[in-house]
Amino acid sequence: MQVRRRRRLAAVGAIAAALGASALTIATAQNASAATGCEVDYTVVSSWGSGFQANISITADEPIDGWTVEWDFTGAVSGISAWNVTAQSLSGNHFTASDAGWNGTIASGQTREVFGFTASGSPGAIEHTEVNGVACDGGGSQEPTTEPEPTDPDPTDPAPDGTPVERHGRLSVCGNNMCNEDGQEIQLRGVSSMWLHWQTQPYAQNLAALEWMRDEWGIEVFRVAMGVEPEGAYLDDPNGWKAEVEQVIRNAEEAGVYVIVDFHAHQAHQHRAAAVAFFTDLADRYGHLPNVIWEPYNEPEQVDWASTVKPYHEAVVAAIRAQDPDNIVVLGTPTWSQDVDVAAANPVSGTNLMYTLHFYSCTHAQWNRDKANTALNAGLALFVTEWGASAADGGLDGRVCLDEAQRWIDWMGANKISWTAWKLDVGNDSTNLLSAGAPVTGGWNNYLHGHAPFVIANLP
Ligand code: MG
Repeated sequence: MQVRRRRRLAAVGAIAAALGASALTIATAQNASAATGCEVDYTVVSSWGSGFQANISITADEPIDGWTVEWDFTGAVSGISAWNVTAQSLSGNHFTASDAGWNGTIASGQTREVFGFTASGSPGAIEHTEVNGVACDGGGSQEPTTEPEPTDPDPTDPAPDGTPVERHGRLSVCGNNMCNEDGQEIQLRGVSSMWLHWQTQPYAQNLAALEWMRDEWGIEVFRVAMGVEPEGAYLDDPNGWKAEVEQVIRNAEEAGVYVIVDFHAHQAHQHRAAAVAFFTDLADRYGHLPNVIWEPYNEPEQVDWASTVKPYHEAVVAAIRAQDPDNIVVLGTPTWSQDVDVAAANPVSGTNLMYTLHFYSCTHAQWNRDKANTALNAGLALFVTEWGASAADGGLDGRVCLDEAQRWIDWMGANKISWTAWKLDVGNDSTNLLSAGAPVTGGWNNYLHGHAPFVIANLP
Protein backbone atom coordinates (compact mmCIF):
# COMPACT_ATOMS: atom_id res chain seq x y z
CA MET A 1 0.00 0.00 0.00
CA GLN A 2 1.35 3.31 -0.97
CA VAL A 3 0.77 6.71 0.51
CA ARG A 4 -2.71 7.79 -0.34
CA ARG A 5 -2.77 10.44 -2.96
CA ARG A 6 -5.71 12.65 -2.43
CA ARG A 7 -7.01 14.69 -5.25
CA ARG A 8 -8.85 17.75 -4.17
CA LEU A 9 -10.78 19.02 -7.11
CA ALA A 10 -9.24 22.43 -7.26
CA ALA A 11 -9.31 22.11 -11.00
CA VAL A 12 -13.03 21.75 -11.44
CA GLY A 13 -12.94 24.51 -14.01
CA ALA A 14 -10.46 22.59 -16.07
CA ILE A 15 -12.60 19.48 -15.95
CA ALA A 16 -15.69 21.42 -16.98
CA ALA A 17 -13.75 23.05 -19.79
CA ALA A 18 -12.42 19.73 -20.93
CA LEU A 19 -15.88 18.29 -21.07
CA GLY A 20 -17.23 21.27 -23.01
CA ALA A 21 -20.77 20.41 -23.95
CA SER A 22 -21.44 18.68 -20.67
CA ALA A 23 -20.61 21.74 -18.66
CA LEU A 24 -24.19 22.35 -17.57
CA THR A 25 -24.49 18.86 -16.11
CA ILE A 26 -21.17 19.32 -14.42
CA ALA A 27 -22.25 22.53 -12.76
CA THR A 28 -25.33 20.81 -11.35
CA ALA A 29 -23.27 17.96 -10.08
CA GLN A 30 -20.79 20.30 -8.45
CA ASN A 31 -23.55 21.75 -6.36
CA ALA A 32 -24.59 18.31 -5.16
CA SER A 33 -20.95 17.49 -4.52
CA ALA A 34 -20.42 20.64 -2.56
CA ALA A 35 -23.41 19.76 -0.41
CA THR A 36 -22.08 16.34 0.54
CA GLY A 37 -18.37 16.95 0.18
CA CYS A 38 -17.40 13.50 -0.98
CA GLU A 39 -14.51 12.56 -3.16
CA VAL A 40 -13.49 9.29 -4.77
CA ASP A 41 -9.86 8.57 -5.54
CA TYR A 42 -9.10 6.08 -8.27
CA THR A 43 -5.53 4.77 -8.01
CA VAL A 44 -4.07 2.31 -10.47
CA VAL A 45 -1.69 0.12 -8.51
CA SER A 46 -0.43 -1.89 -11.45
CA SER A 47 -1.28 -2.67 -15.02
CA TRP A 48 -0.21 -5.35 -17.42
CA GLY A 49 -0.92 -6.07 -21.05
CA SER A 50 -4.51 -7.13 -20.71
CA GLY A 51 -5.66 -5.71 -17.42
CA PHE A 52 -4.99 -3.65 -14.36
CA GLN A 53 -5.48 -3.42 -10.62
CA ALA A 54 -6.83 -0.33 -8.87
CA ASN A 55 -7.73 0.86 -5.39
CA ILE A 56 -10.62 3.12 -4.48
CA SER A 57 -10.57 5.62 -1.62
CA ILE A 58 -13.46 7.73 -0.45
CA THR A 59 -13.00 11.02 1.34
CA ALA A 60 -15.99 12.14 3.38
CA ASP A 61 -16.47 15.65 4.63
CA GLU A 62 -19.63 14.47 6.39
CA PRO A 63 -19.57 11.11 8.20
CA ILE A 64 -20.62 8.18 6.04
CA ASP A 65 -22.21 5.10 7.60
CA GLY A 66 -22.57 2.60 4.79
CA TRP A 67 -21.82 3.40 1.18
CA THR A 68 -22.75 2.45 -2.32
CA VAL A 69 -20.37 3.83 -4.89
CA GLU A 70 -20.89 3.90 -8.64
CA TRP A 71 -19.28 5.36 -11.69
CA ASP A 72 -18.86 4.98 -15.44
CA PHE A 73 -15.56 3.80 -16.90
CA THR A 74 -14.51 5.85 -19.91
CA GLY A 75 -12.64 2.87 -21.35
CA ALA A 76 -13.72 -0.66 -22.20
CA VAL A 77 -13.46 -2.66 -18.99
CA SER A 78 -14.67 -6.18 -18.35
CA GLY A 79 -14.20 -9.05 -15.97
CA ILE A 80 -14.02 -6.82 -12.94
CA SER A 81 -13.34 -8.56 -9.63
CA ALA A 82 -13.53 -6.39 -6.52
CA TRP A 83 -12.81 -7.40 -2.95
CA ASN A 84 -14.08 -6.01 0.35
CA VAL A 85 -17.40 -5.12 -1.27
CA THR A 86 -20.87 -6.56 -1.61
CA ALA A 87 -23.31 -6.32 -4.50
CA GLN A 88 -20.73 -5.49 -7.12
CA SER A 89 -21.99 -5.24 -10.68
CA LEU A 90 -20.70 -4.04 -13.99
CA SER A 91 -23.38 -3.21 -16.51
CA GLY A 92 -21.92 -1.87 -19.72
CA ASN A 93 -19.42 0.65 -18.45
CA HIS A 94 -21.36 1.36 -15.24
CA PHE A 95 -19.92 -0.10 -12.06
CA THR A 96 -21.65 -0.31 -8.67
CA ALA A 97 -20.51 -1.78 -5.36
CA SER A 98 -21.47 -1.46 -1.70
CA ASP A 99 -19.50 -1.72 1.51
CA ALA A 100 -18.79 -5.07 3.17
CA GLY A 101 -19.94 -3.95 6.61
CA TRP A 102 -16.65 -3.57 8.41
CA ASN A 103 -15.46 -0.94 5.92
CA GLY A 104 -18.73 1.00 5.74
CA THR A 105 -17.94 3.92 7.98
CA ILE A 106 -15.84 6.91 7.00
CA ALA A 107 -15.40 9.65 9.53
CA SER A 108 -15.75 13.30 8.74
CA GLY A 109 -12.61 14.47 6.98
CA GLN A 110 -11.24 10.94 6.67
CA THR A 111 -9.90 9.41 3.50
CA ARG A 112 -10.36 5.67 3.61
CA GLU A 113 -9.14 3.16 1.07
CA VAL A 114 -12.29 1.08 0.93
CA PHE A 115 -11.71 -1.55 -1.71
CA GLY A 116 -9.68 -2.70 -4.66
CA PHE A 117 -10.31 -4.58 -7.85
CA THR A 118 -8.72 -6.18 -10.84
CA ALA A 119 -10.22 -5.94 -14.30
CA SER A 120 -9.53 -6.68 -17.91
CA GLY A 121 -9.08 -3.75 -20.27
CA SER A 122 -7.29 -0.47 -19.73
CA PRO A 123 -7.83 1.78 -16.73
CA GLY A 124 -9.09 4.83 -18.65
CA ALA A 125 -10.81 7.28 -16.32
CA ILE A 126 -13.95 7.11 -14.21
CA GLU A 127 -16.76 9.66 -14.45
CA HIS A 128 -20.23 10.36 -13.12
CA THR A 129 -19.06 9.12 -9.73
CA GLU A 130 -21.68 8.91 -7.03
CA VAL A 131 -21.62 7.91 -3.38
CA ASN A 132 -25.02 6.97 -1.98
CA GLY A 133 -26.68 8.45 -5.03
CA VAL A 134 -25.05 11.85 -4.75
CA ALA A 135 -22.53 13.05 -7.29
CA CYS A 136 -18.94 13.27 -6.16
CA ASP A 137 -15.91 14.88 -7.74
CA GLY A 138 -18.14 17.35 -9.50
CA GLY A 139 -19.48 14.52 -11.60
CA GLY A 140 -16.63 15.06 -14.01
CA SER A 141 -14.01 12.73 -15.29
CA GLN A 142 -11.48 11.39 -12.83
CA GLU A 143 -8.20 10.35 -14.37
CA PRO A 144 -6.57 7.61 -12.35
CA THR A 145 -3.63 8.37 -10.17
CA THR A 146 -0.87 5.99 -11.12
CA GLU A 147 1.47 4.58 -8.55
CA PRO A 148 5.00 5.58 -9.47
CA GLU A 149 7.06 2.74 -10.88
CA PRO A 150 9.50 1.89 -8.13
CA THR A 151 13.07 1.63 -9.18
CA ASP A 152 14.08 -1.91 -9.92
CA PRO A 153 16.53 -3.44 -7.53
CA ASP A 154 19.92 -4.28 -8.86
CA PRO A 155 19.92 -6.92 -11.55
CA THR A 156 20.19 -10.37 -10.09
CA ASP A 157 23.72 -11.21 -9.17
CA PRO A 158 24.63 -14.86 -8.91
CA ALA A 159 24.30 -16.12 -5.35
CA PRO A 160 27.67 -16.36 -3.56
CA ASP A 161 29.53 -19.63 -3.96
CA GLY A 162 28.62 -22.35 -1.52
CA THR A 163 25.45 -20.67 -0.31
CA PRO A 164 22.07 -22.40 -0.24
CA VAL A 165 20.76 -20.36 -3.17
CA GLU A 166 23.89 -21.07 -5.21
CA ARG A 167 23.43 -24.79 -4.55
CA HIS A 168 19.72 -25.01 -5.26
CA GLY A 169 18.79 -22.08 -7.50
CA ARG A 170 15.17 -21.65 -8.46
CA LEU A 171 12.63 -23.69 -6.55
CA SER A 172 9.49 -25.38 -7.73
CA VAL A 173 6.83 -27.69 -6.38
CA CYS A 174 7.25 -31.26 -7.61
CA GLY A 175 4.43 -33.53 -6.51
CA ASN A 176 4.13 -32.94 -2.80
CA ASN A 177 7.72 -31.89 -2.41
CA MET A 178 9.90 -28.94 -3.15
CA CYS A 179 12.49 -29.35 -5.86
CA ASN A 180 15.61 -27.40 -6.63
CA GLU A 181 16.63 -26.12 -10.04
CA ASP A 182 18.05 -29.55 -10.93
CA GLY A 183 14.75 -31.24 -10.15
CA GLN A 184 16.01 -32.86 -6.93
CA GLU A 185 13.66 -33.03 -3.97
CA ILE A 186 15.02 -30.88 -1.17
CA GLN A 187 14.21 -29.94 2.40
CA LEU A 188 15.11 -26.38 3.41
CA ARG A 189 15.55 -25.58 7.09
CA GLY A 190 15.89 -22.32 8.94
CA VAL A 191 14.30 -19.94 11.40
CA SER A 192 11.60 -17.30 11.46
CA SER A 193 11.88 -13.78 12.71
CA MET A 194 9.75 -12.42 15.53
CA TRP A 195 6.80 -10.25 14.49
CA LEU A 196 8.93 -7.48 13.04
CA HIS A 197 7.28 -4.67 14.96
CA TRP A 198 7.67 -6.54 18.27
CA GLN A 199 11.36 -7.40 17.96
CA THR A 200 13.44 -6.25 20.90
CA GLN A 201 16.19 -5.37 18.42
CA PRO A 202 16.18 -5.44 14.59
CA TYR A 203 17.72 -8.93 14.39
CA ALA A 204 15.78 -9.85 11.26
CA GLN A 205 17.09 -6.91 9.25
CA ASN A 206 20.77 -7.47 10.04
CA LEU A 207 22.90 -8.86 7.23
CA ALA A 208 25.77 -9.90 9.50
CA ALA A 209 23.35 -11.84 11.70
CA LEU A 210 21.89 -13.59 8.67
CA GLU A 211 25.33 -14.58 7.39
CA TRP A 212 26.30 -15.76 10.85
CA MET A 213 23.20 -17.96 11.10
CA ARG A 214 23.95 -19.34 7.63
CA ASP A 215 27.56 -20.15 8.48
CA GLU A 216 27.27 -21.19 12.15
CA TRP A 217 23.78 -22.69 12.39
CA GLY A 218 23.45 -23.82 8.79
CA ILE A 219 20.20 -22.05 8.01
CA GLU A 220 19.12 -22.17 4.39
CA VAL A 221 15.93 -20.15 4.68
CA PHE A 222 14.84 -17.22 6.79
CA ARG A 223 11.25 -16.14 7.30
CA VAL A 224 10.47 -12.47 7.76
CA ALA A 225 7.24 -12.27 9.77
CA MET A 226 5.81 -8.85 9.07
CA GLY A 227 3.07 -8.13 11.60
CA VAL A 228 -0.02 -6.73 9.95
CA GLU A 229 -2.88 -6.09 12.33
CA PRO A 230 -1.56 -5.07 15.76
CA GLU A 231 -1.07 -1.44 16.61
CA GLY A 232 2.11 -0.13 15.06
CA ALA A 233 2.33 -2.89 12.45
CA TYR A 234 1.79 -2.88 8.70
CA LEU A 235 -1.70 -1.45 8.53
CA ASP A 236 -0.53 1.54 10.56
CA ASP A 237 2.69 2.08 8.60
CA PRO A 238 2.63 0.18 5.31
CA ASN A 239 5.52 1.93 3.65
CA GLY A 240 7.72 1.74 6.71
CA TRP A 241 7.26 -2.00 7.27
CA LYS A 242 7.42 -2.84 3.61
CA ALA A 243 10.80 -1.12 3.49
CA GLU A 244 11.98 -3.28 6.42
CA VAL A 245 10.88 -6.42 4.59
CA GLU A 246 12.75 -5.24 1.52
CA GLN A 247 15.87 -4.88 3.64
CA VAL A 248 15.54 -8.54 4.61
CA ILE A 249 14.99 -9.57 0.99
CA ARG A 250 18.10 -7.70 -0.12
CA ASN A 251 20.12 -9.20 2.73
CA ALA A 252 18.94 -12.68 1.81
CA GLU A 253 19.90 -12.12 -1.80
CA GLU A 254 23.35 -11.00 -0.75
CA ALA A 255 23.75 -13.88 1.71
CA GLY A 256 22.46 -16.49 -0.74
CA VAL A 257 19.70 -17.56 1.66
CA TYR A 258 16.04 -18.22 0.79
CA VAL A 259 13.58 -15.79 2.32
CA ILE A 260 9.89 -16.26 3.09
CA VAL A 261 7.93 -13.02 2.91
CA ASP A 262 5.25 -13.63 5.54
CA PHE A 263 2.14 -11.43 5.77
CA HIS A 264 1.91 -12.24 9.45
CA ALA A 265 -1.78 -11.86 10.09
CA HIS A 266 -4.67 -13.65 11.77
CA GLN A 267 -7.48 -11.85 9.91
CA ALA A 268 -5.83 -11.21 6.56
CA HIS A 269 -9.07 -11.94 4.70
CA GLN A 270 -10.34 -8.68 6.17
CA HIS A 271 -7.36 -6.83 4.69
CA ARG A 272 -7.35 -8.33 1.26
CA ALA A 273 -6.81 -5.07 -0.59
CA ALA A 274 -3.81 -4.33 1.62
CA ALA A 275 -2.39 -7.80 1.00
CA VAL A 276 -2.95 -7.59 -2.74
CA ALA A 277 -1.21 -4.23 -2.90
CA PHE A 278 1.70 -5.46 -0.76
CA PHE A 279 2.30 -8.62 -2.76
CA THR A 280 1.67 -6.97 -6.12
CA ASP A 281 4.40 -4.47 -5.47
CA LEU A 282 6.92 -6.90 -3.99
CA ALA A 283 6.25 -9.60 -6.59
CA ASP A 284 6.74 -6.99 -9.30
CA ARG A 285 10.09 -5.88 -7.94
CA TYR A 286 11.48 -9.08 -6.37
CA GLY A 287 9.66 -11.90 -8.14
CA HIS A 288 12.59 -12.31 -10.52
CA LEU A 289 14.85 -13.42 -7.65
CA PRO A 290 15.34 -17.15 -7.19
CA ASN A 291 15.34 -17.01 -3.40
CA VAL A 292 12.01 -15.34 -2.59
CA ILE A 293 9.02 -17.35 -1.30
CA TRP A 294 5.64 -15.67 -0.71
CA GLU A 295 3.45 -16.46 2.32
CA PRO A 296 0.23 -14.44 2.11
CA TYR A 297 -1.53 -15.47 5.34
CA ASN A 298 0.31 -16.68 8.42
CA GLU A 299 -2.47 -18.21 10.49
CA PRO A 300 -6.13 -17.94 9.67
CA GLU A 301 -8.11 -18.61 12.83
CA GLN A 302 -11.24 -20.73 13.04
CA VAL A 303 -12.70 -19.47 9.78
CA ASP A 304 -14.08 -21.39 6.85
CA TRP A 305 -11.64 -22.49 4.19
CA ALA A 306 -13.99 -22.63 1.22
CA SER A 307 -15.84 -19.36 1.73
CA THR A 308 -13.22 -17.24 3.48
CA VAL A 309 -9.61 -18.36 3.26
CA LYS A 310 -9.55 -19.88 -0.20
CA PRO A 311 -11.06 -16.81 -1.95
CA TYR A 312 -8.49 -14.65 -0.20
CA HIS A 313 -5.68 -16.87 -1.45
CA GLU A 314 -7.11 -16.85 -4.95
CA ALA A 315 -7.07 -13.05 -5.01
CA VAL A 316 -3.54 -12.78 -3.61
CA VAL A 317 -2.14 -15.56 -5.79
CA ALA A 318 -3.67 -13.88 -8.84
CA ALA A 319 -2.02 -10.62 -7.84
CA ILE A 320 1.34 -12.32 -7.35
CA ARG A 321 1.07 -14.29 -10.57
CA ALA A 322 0.30 -11.13 -12.53
CA GLN A 323 3.83 -10.02 -11.64
CA ASP A 324 5.72 -13.21 -10.86
CA PRO A 325 4.74 -16.34 -12.73
CA ASP A 326 6.76 -18.86 -10.80
CA ASN A 327 8.05 -18.26 -7.28
CA ILE A 328 6.61 -20.57 -4.62
CA VAL A 329 3.60 -19.32 -2.66
CA VAL A 330 2.83 -20.95 0.70
CA LEU A 331 -0.84 -20.72 1.65
CA GLY A 332 -2.04 -20.50 5.26
CA THR A 333 -4.75 -22.89 6.40
CA PRO A 334 -7.54 -22.59 8.99
CA THR A 335 -7.19 -23.20 12.71
CA TRP A 336 -3.82 -21.48 12.97
CA SER A 337 -2.49 -23.34 9.94
CA GLN A 338 -3.29 -26.85 11.03
CA ASP A 339 -6.23 -27.76 8.77
CA VAL A 340 -4.12 -28.76 5.79
CA ASP A 341 -6.45 -31.72 5.29
CA VAL A 342 -9.34 -29.30 4.72
CA ALA A 343 -7.32 -27.39 2.15
CA ALA A 344 -6.32 -30.67 0.48
CA ALA A 345 -9.96 -31.51 -0.17
CA ASN A 346 -10.47 -28.20 -2.00
CA PRO A 347 -7.10 -26.81 -3.08
CA VAL A 348 -6.34 -23.53 -4.80
CA SER A 349 -5.56 -24.03 -8.46
CA GLY A 350 -2.25 -22.83 -9.77
CA THR A 351 1.38 -23.78 -9.96
CA ASN A 352 4.11 -23.78 -7.34
CA LEU A 353 1.65 -23.58 -4.48
CA MET A 354 2.36 -25.08 -1.08
CA TYR A 355 0.35 -25.07 2.14
CA THR A 356 1.29 -23.90 5.61
CA LEU A 357 1.41 -26.33 8.53
CA HIS A 358 2.32 -25.08 12.02
CA PHE A 359 2.93 -27.15 15.13
CA TYR A 360 3.95 -26.61 18.74
CA SER A 361 4.96 -29.91 20.22
CA CYS A 362 3.57 -29.51 23.77
CA THR A 363 0.14 -29.03 22.14
CA HIS A 364 0.20 -30.76 18.77
CA ALA A 365 0.95 -34.44 18.40
CA GLN A 366 0.15 -37.47 16.31
CA TRP A 367 -3.42 -36.41 15.53
CA ASN A 368 -2.03 -33.30 13.78
CA ARG A 369 0.44 -35.41 11.85
CA ASP A 370 -2.48 -37.63 10.87
CA LYS A 371 -4.23 -34.58 9.38
CA ALA A 372 -1.01 -33.64 7.61
CA ASN A 373 -0.61 -37.17 6.28
CA THR A 374 -4.13 -36.93 4.88
CA ALA A 375 -3.05 -33.78 3.04
CA LEU A 376 0.16 -35.39 1.80
CA ASN A 377 -1.73 -38.42 0.58
CA ALA A 378 -4.07 -36.11 -1.31
CA GLY A 379 -1.03 -34.64 -3.07
CA LEU A 380 -0.58 -31.38 -1.20
CA ALA A 381 2.89 -29.89 -0.75
CA LEU A 382 3.46 -28.66 2.83
CA PHE A 383 5.85 -26.15 4.37
CA VAL A 384 6.14 -25.82 8.15
CA THR A 385 6.77 -22.09 8.35
CA GLU A 386 6.52 -22.13 12.14
CA TRP A 387 7.12 -24.68 14.83
CA GLY A 388 8.20 -24.74 18.42
CA ALA A 389 9.14 -27.40 20.96
CA SER A 390 6.67 -25.56 23.17
CA ALA A 391 2.99 -25.01 23.85
CA ALA A 392 0.92 -23.40 21.11
CA ASP A 393 1.22 -19.95 22.66
CA GLY A 394 4.93 -19.99 21.81
CA GLY A 395 5.92 -21.22 25.26
CA LEU A 396 4.79 -18.55 27.70
CA ASP A 397 5.31 -21.08 30.50
CA GLY A 398 8.88 -21.72 29.40
CA ARG A 399 8.32 -25.45 28.85
CA VAL A 400 9.90 -27.46 26.04
CA CYS A 401 8.57 -30.83 24.86
CA LEU A 402 11.51 -32.37 23.07
CA ASP A 403 10.28 -35.95 22.68
CA GLU A 404 7.23 -34.92 20.67
CA ALA A 405 9.32 -32.31 18.83
CA GLN A 406 11.69 -35.07 17.79
CA ARG A 407 8.80 -37.07 16.37
CA TRP A 408 7.85 -34.04 14.30
CA ILE A 409 11.44 -33.52 13.17
CA ASP A 410 11.67 -37.16 12.11
CA TRP A 411 8.34 -36.93 10.28
CA MET A 412 9.39 -33.73 8.45
CA GLY A 413 12.70 -35.32 7.51
CA ALA A 414 11.04 -38.47 6.20
CA ASN A 415 8.66 -36.41 4.09
CA LYS A 416 11.23 -33.77 3.07
CA ILE A 417 9.07 -31.03 4.51
CA SER A 418 10.89 -27.72 4.75
CA TRP A 419 10.66 -25.70 7.94
CA THR A 420 11.46 -22.48 9.75
CA ALA A 421 11.43 -22.53 13.55
CA TRP A 422 9.78 -19.77 15.57
CA LYS A 423 11.51 -17.23 16.43
CA LEU A 424 14.59 -15.01 16.42
CA ASP A 425 14.32 -12.69 19.39
CA VAL A 426 15.10 -12.27 23.07
CA GLY A 427 12.35 -13.03 25.56
CA ASN A 428 11.04 -15.47 28.14
CA ASP A 429 8.96 -17.68 25.81
CA SER A 430 10.60 -21.02 25.24
CA THR A 431 10.51 -20.34 21.49
CA ASN A 432 12.68 -17.22 21.82
CA LEU A 433 15.97 -18.41 20.39
CA LEU A 434 18.11 -15.75 22.07
CA SER A 435 18.83 -14.64 25.61
CA ALA A 436 19.27 -11.15 26.97
CA GLY A 437 22.28 -9.30 25.64
CA ALA A 438 22.45 -11.15 22.31
CA PRO A 439 24.18 -8.75 19.90
CA VAL A 440 22.19 -7.69 16.86
CA THR A 441 24.97 -8.86 14.50
CA GLY A 442 25.13 -12.54 15.47
CA GLY A 443 27.78 -14.36 17.53
CA TRP A 444 25.19 -16.03 19.73
CA ASN A 445 26.92 -19.17 20.98
CA ASN A 446 26.61 -17.91 24.55
CA TYR A 447 23.15 -16.45 24.05
CA LEU A 448 20.98 -19.45 23.24
CA HIS A 449 17.60 -19.75 24.91
CA GLY A 450 14.62 -22.06 25.18
CA HIS A 451 14.33 -24.55 22.35
CA ALA A 452 17.28 -23.01 20.47
CA PRO A 453 19.78 -25.84 21.10
CA PHE A 454 17.24 -28.37 19.81
CA VAL A 455 16.45 -26.25 16.73
CA ILE A 456 20.14 -25.74 15.93
CA ALA A 457 20.89 -29.43 16.39
CA ASN A 458 18.32 -30.19 13.71
CA LEU A 459 19.47 -27.60 11.19
CA PRO A 460 21.60 -29.00 8.36
MG1 MG B 1 9.75 -15.41 -10.36
